[in-house]
Amino acid sequence: MLDRKFILQNAELVRENCERRGVPCDVDRIVELDAQRVTQLQLAQDLNRQANEVSKQIPKASDNDQRQELIAKGRELREQKDAAQKQCDELEDQILAIQTLIPNLTHPDAPTGGEDDAKELSFGATPKPEFDFKPLDHLQLGEKHDLFDFEGGARVAGAGFYFLRNAAVRLDLALQQFAISFLSDRGFTPVSTPDLALTSVLQGTGFNPRGPETQIYSIENTELNLVATAEITLGGMMSDQTLADTELPIKLCGLSHCFRTEAGAAGRASKGLYRVHQFTKVEMFAFTLPDQSDAMHEEMKSLECELFDALEVPYRVVDTASGDLGGPAYRKYDLEAWMPGRGDGGEWGEVTSTSNCTDYQARRLNTRYKVTGEKGTKFLHTLNGTAVATGRAMIAVIENHQRADGSIAVPKVLQPWMGCDVIG
Ligand code: AMP
Repeated sequence: MLDRKFILQNAELVRENCERRGVPCDVDRIVELDAQRVTQLQLAQDLNRQANEVSKQIPKASDNDQRQELIAKGRELREQKDAAQKQCDELEDQILAIQTLIPNLTHPDAPTGGEDDAKELSFGATPKPEFDFKPLDHLQLGEKHDLFDFEGGARVAGAGFYFLRNAAVRLDLALQQFAISFLSDRGFTPVSTPDLALTSVLQGTGFNPRGPETQIYSIENTELNLVATAEITLGGMMSDQTLADTELPIKLCGLSHCFRTEAGAAGRASKGLYRVHQFTKVEMFAFTLPDQSDAMHEEMKSLECELFDALEVPYRVVDTASGDLGGPAYRKYDLEAWMPGRGDGGEWGEVTSTSNCTDYQARRLNTRYKVTGEKGTKFLHTLNGTAVATGRAMIAVIENHQRADGSIAVPKVLQPWMGCDVIG
């Protein structure tokens, strides 16, 4: 969430930013409502002062009639004050409802536009594979090696759920083990997070658990929701906390299941494991000082590149355009892996995403830092980045490493965790 004072003092800039990101927000309405709120607040304070004056006169009343008159006047003033205060509270709710919809500011270098306007920044170390046979997609490979059961998954939980089987279970675990060990070696504290979180924590991290377009499964008659990513739990972990500047940056890698309704995703390329309702993810998360967040964002991007280079998967890095940033991100980089079985002859498919959310989530979550020796506290910055989302990483690994005889080579870095160098 943006700072209210900032919005009021920079309405034009905020309006332009909403337009650039394609988010319809009535910034002028906030300015208007806030002016009304200030008027009502001043009125409430004035009526309160008058009521206090009247109260002080009651003991000095010359007779009972005058006393009753003053009591009645005081009561009337307090009723008027309560009405003004109520108005003020209602206006505050209306302002907050618009304020929470206003997206974060946008990095000046982020491209402007929608999904197709992402800017290609670089490519990974592994070239696209050149097969001298017709490559199979991950579903055909899965059938060959008995790796997935989508029919069984659908019988249990509906379409979009699945069972992993045999080597796919070991590959899923190997990807998690590799990512956690890789990040632990680079100063990230591994944490295994709850798979459920309170509605307030979801809202604090910028997720909307209600409404028709929500991606969130909520548990009826409770304040609990299944998390869409460990970004939610890792961010919520420090809500209402004030950290010392000397503790920052805090770097975490969280392991969680991720649950997504994928509302509105019908028709988007979503074969097999690509767009499912449940998958496992190792997620980087960092709490930083404001002047550390740009560098941390570059670090997360580099780590994602290192990870996918180590998996010997071809990928490209893209700078996400303004209209595709969502609410909290100030800037977002995605890694798109080459998936030989996707589309007609292979396509890039998003495998990771890293965002610098600056103080947008911290303001909602009320997560602050204090500079040693200085008065007061400030909002810190938060960042997140996918290390591996195992479903899509698995597609990239098995489709790129398939061989003419139908077997699948296991990338070197996964072999110790898989206990083999080939599937099939
Ligand atoms: P996000 O948190 O939406 O940025 O997603 C992070 C990563 O999770 C993406 O880059 C994908 O690798 C993966 N992912 C997101 N949604 C799905 C899904 N419905 N099914 C499988 N993987 C997904």
